[in-house]
Amino acid sequence: MNLDTIFGAEIMARCEALAQFTEEPGHLTRTYLTPVQRAAADTLLEWMREAGMSARIDEAGNVVGRYEGATPNARTLITGSHFDTVVNAGKYDGNYGVITSIACVKALNLQGQRLPFAIEVVGFADEEGVRYKTTMMGSKAIAGTYDMGILALKDRAGISLTDAMKNYGLDPAAIGRAARNPKDILAFLEIHIEQGPVLLKEGRPVGTVTSIAGVYRFQAVVTGQAGHAGTTPMNMRCDAAAAAAEMIGAIERYCAAEGNRSPGGVVGTVGQLNVPGGAINVIPGACEFSIDLRSGNDDTRHAIWGMLEPELHAIAKRRHVELAISKTLDLAAAPCAPQLMARIDAAIGEVTGAAVRRLPSGAGHDAMAMAALCPQAMIFIRCGNGGISHNPLETITEEDARIGAWVLYEVIRDLAAA
Ligand SMILES: [Zn+2]
Repeated sequence: MNLDTIFGAEIMARCEALAQFTEEPGHLTRTYLTPVQRAAADTLLEWMREAGMSARIDEAGNVVGRYEGATPNARTLITGSHFDTVVNAGKYDGNYGVITSIACVKALNLQGQRLPFAIEVVGFADEEGVRYKTTMMGSKAIAGTYDMGILALKDRAGISLTDAMKNYGLDPAAIGRAARNPKDILAFLEIHIEQGPVLLKEGRPVGTVTSIAGVYRFQAVVTGQAGHAGTTPMNMRCDAAAAAAEMIGAIERYCAAEGNRSPGGVVGTVGQLNVPGGAINVIPGACEFSIDLRSGNDDTRHAIWGMLEPELHAIAKRRHVELAISKTLDLAAAPCAPQLMARIDAAIGEVTGAAVRRLPSGAGHDAMAMAALCPQAMIFIRCGNGGISHNPLETITEEDARIGAWVLYEVIRDLAAA
């Protein structure tokens, strides 16, 4: 099999094959520590061994394949992504990155190439956090940032994480042993579908990720005055929902205006909106909404919120309603390592012959957790169907799969030549 086949047709066939391991026939759902995940893990182990790696399941359930370097005690380059999925997922989110990383090692092995470093391909067992509502457990275990407090969490069936690990054949007390020593690790590279429309709209197969966005999350509660929808004149109302609507408009306007001119960009979303106890004939006395604000640059994120928050309070004041905002998440951005980004740029130039598009990742990824362990960088490949992801309509082309694999392969070889 030549490399173009391994990087194209075989990657696509393996994405299909892995998608057969699902908890729900007819669509793809594969969550942490289920028998279905174990079956998928066995397939990954088999592919890793076929590619010339020794392979094992680590203490957190991650699948880890190791391809030794030219010298026994060389440092390790880690590459990979996650193989758990959301409910009713696409086939490529995460899985493409694991399969493509295996393909790159297979290519090296077929050519009898040993590098000055070892390569480990990791299939992270939990990134999405579907079963235990806590994300990136697999990569946090490897990065050494695992919070043992989560072991008591229970899934919807009442099974604790501790018991789920035991049922899977893992020892929860040993999870610390999954953590790697930063001294041994050279870098982490992750190739992933973009999960958005930017590369598709611009006609580019691949891009270099600059940063994984930092996130603010807030819950806002607007309190006004409930009243009769028929008897209260418009100028005598303190309508909490109408005030919230104006605030949501302000969030959208600020993010749209500042997003393109600020470093790292910014996107803001109100995804939850609720009028508690609302009725068709009652002026809303209260309204609650969520705010999700992300930027690849933490300074931008802080600055935008610094402008937006007073604006929301000014709206509340003008409309004679109370506004209370509580912060529920403040997650720092994970900038990708500049020297790795430069290598990815060069590889993209070499493989595609086109100018490089750099873009931030608005979605979280394992690379974010791995940033605590070592320098990290990401390659995005184009998502079809308008950029839709976390959905069965998620798609990529075989040609893009191949280009992505070539880029990752070239980056690995370039690191070896350095
Ligand atoms: Zn993913």
